[in-house]
This record gives sequence, C-alpha cells and structure tokens, in this order.
Amino acid sequence: MSDDTTIPCGIPMSQPKARRSLQARLVWGDHVVTVGGDAPVRVQSMTNTDTVDAIGTAIQIKELALAGSEIVRITVNTPEAAAAVPHVREQLDRMGVNVPLVGDFHYNGHRLLTDFPDCAQALSKYRINPGNVGKGDKHDKQFGQMIEAAMRYNKPVRIGVNWGSLDQELLAKLMDENALRAQPFEAKQVMYEALITSAIDSAALAQSMGMSPNQILLSCKVSGVQDLIAVYRELAQRCNYPLHLGLTEAGMGTKGTVASATALSILLQEGIGDTIRVSLTPQPGEARTQEVVVASEILQSLGLRTFVPSVTACPGCGRTTSTTFQEMAKSIDDFLRAQMPVWRTQYPGVENLKVAVMGCIVNGPGESKHADIGISLPGSGEAPAAPVFIDGEKAMTLRGDNIAQEFHQIVENYIEKRFA
Ligand code: SF4
Repeated sequence: MSDDTTIPCGIPMSQPKARRSLQARLVWGDHVVTVGGDAPVRVQSMTNTDTVDAIGTAIQIKELALAGSEIVRITVNTPEAAAAVPHVREQLDRMGVNVPLVGDFHYNGHRLLTDFPDCAQALSKYRINPGNVGKGDKHDKQFGQMIEAAMRYNKPVRIGVNWGSLDQELLAKLMDENALRAQPFEAKQVMYEALITSAIDSAALAQSMGMSPNQILLSCKVSGVQDLIAVYRELAQRCNYPLHLGLTEAGMGTKGTVASATALSILLQEGIGDTIRVSLTPQPGEARTQEVVVASEILQSLGLRTFVPSVTACPGCGRTTSTTFQEMAKSIDDFLRAQMPVWRTQYPGVENLKVAVMGCIVNGPGESKHADIGISLPGSGEAPAAPVFIDGEKAMTLRGDNIAQEFHQIVENYIEKRFA
C-alpha cells in the first residue's frame, strides 16, 4: 500500500487533560465512594428539604440518587437537624439507597459535631466554610474543633470557600497589603487571592493539626463564569487536593444551565475538577433532580462519563413541519431515562447506547448510521416511510400510525439482545 494519500496530517484528537490529585474516600457502612485520583469525576447534589423531616429528606435523597447523584449534601444547621441526620441515614439504608451523605455546616458546626456524635458518625464528609466558622480568635479554635471531629470519626472534609461568605478579615488584610503596592492589583484579583488563600491556608491548618491531606477537598465558588475559571485555574496550580467544582448560585433554567455548563466544561477539559455540583434554582414545579441531570449531561457531553443512553435529534427545519419527530425524540429520551434505574444493573453498559431520531432524509440516514439505532422520519414531501438503521445498516422501514410505539419496541429488543 502506498503512503501517498490526500490526508495532509493526522488531526490530534481532542480529550480532557488529566490532573493528578490526591484521592479522598467517603465511607459509610461497607460502602466507599472515592473522589479525586483516578476516580471518575463525581456528580453531587444537595437537598432543599428541612433535614428535621428525616423521611422527606431521605425521599428526596433517593430521588437524587436515582437520577445519578453519587454524593448528596444535606443542611445541618440546628440541633434538631443534627439529631435527624442518623435517622436520614437509617432510612436510606432501609430503602437500599447507597449514597454517602455530606453535612453542610455554617456558624455552629463545631458545636453540632461535638454535641451530636451520631450525626458526626452518620455523615461521610463534612463541609466546612472557613468564612463562617467564627471571627477573631474564635476562628481557628472553632475550625479546629470541626477538624478534630473529622479526625475522630475518620471523615474527610471539604473546605468550601464561597465569595458570598468570604472571610472578611482576610479580604481586608489582603486589600490593605494591595493598597501599599506600587502598582496595586484590581480589587477582583485581590478577591480571587482571598478565596484561594482562605482555602489553602485552612487546609494547611487542618494538616498542621494532624489531618491527612487525603482527607481534604477544596472548593472556591463564585457565581461568574470568568471568575470561576480564573480562580480554579490558579487553585489547581497551587494544590493537589481533590477539587469540588461548581458555579455557586448559578440561577434558574436556561441561564443557570448554560452558565454552569460553560464554566465547568472549560475547567473539566483542562483536567480541573474531581466532583461537580450544578447549583440550579429549581423553577416552580421543577424537580430538584434537574441539577443532577445537567451535571451528568456536562460530563457525558465531554466524554468523561456515560450515565444514560444518548439520543441524537436534529433541530428540525422547514423540511419537517409536523411535530412528530420532536414528540418521538422526547418520548424515546424520557423512556430511556426512566428505565435507567433498573437497566443500570439489568443491562450493564446500556448507558453507552446511542439512538438517533431524525427529521428528514437530508441528514437522517447518515446520522442514524452513526448511532446504534436510528430512525429517519419522513420530512415534508417525502414518502410516509421511516427507515430504521441498526448497527449502521438499514434494518427495516416503518409505516403507518404506530411508528413511535414500534420504534420503542425495536429499541427495547436491541437492548435486551445486546446488553442482557
Ligand atoms: S435532518 Fe432534515 S429536518 Fe432535520 S434539520 Fe436537517 S434538514 Fe431539517
């Protein structure tokens, strides 16, 4: 064979970079979820129930876990909430929900973790916000009490800094120092520095108390996309702790989804981020699980993880004036997602399935051939027939009013044959 081809060069493949971080272990009972190191980037979420309502909280955690959340954080803000935490854990164990719980502490975490040992034990990780652990001389003492509890119960901690609750004493100190520079940095740059310094110095303090670096995760959350990118790029340079990545207060609906996807994708592509949370504000009536769906889709779109079969669908245009293919794309997507809690164990590998639902002959057959199963619906003026492609070959043509149901059945049969 001759090497004399028309291909000018091998175009490099695009893939996320790898970042070497330490690995933390979230343990409960006989279960372990690792974060960082060679572990996949984990999806996590947070409940919005009152933790005192242990049953309601456990039910929402179950919903989040079924949607794909691998770690769930709960608010622990009062003695009553701390007392309820072991009951939430017990309820989850009874329901067979294997997901580690993280306690979110602010202001009084040092007291709650000391006064409620069963709570400290039931949690698999503590979130500590160094901006909210106390002021002045109380800061290091109360932070230290939380670290002591973490070491006593062998739990990792996330030192979670947030620009909405940044340590104001630290910020003021850095601002003063900056004012003395011949060429001061911009105020925003000083704020970035304060976020990172707060996280790194707190981690150093925890280590000086005897905490293993493997038990420490960091986050520095802000709500602006460019701010988050700048802060995490620097944070990743300065430490090798696993990083919890997320845009804080991302907002509602499309805005929150797009902003989170934009910021997280850029950083994940650079290998930055070991676990992600999408902080969406649910729209009225929207399920809390939407944030898990978005987080999973970000990782799946980047090729970092696969959670659910992917459905490729075209946007439609003047060649397809009916809504048939939109309805069909939605119904097949809903169907595949709804089955996943069962299919995950029944059909290992089914999450890698690729389905295409296309609107007309222009790209329909081509896109369908790239999928495992694809259907090319008839566009305006085309014969009322829908060819179905399986593993790249045309397998059959569907006609009539039951195309959607028949296609569902074909997909199910394919899954059973290939993944059972
Ligand atoms: S596949 Fe056909 S219907 Fe879909 S966007 Fe392309 S041209 Fe339009």
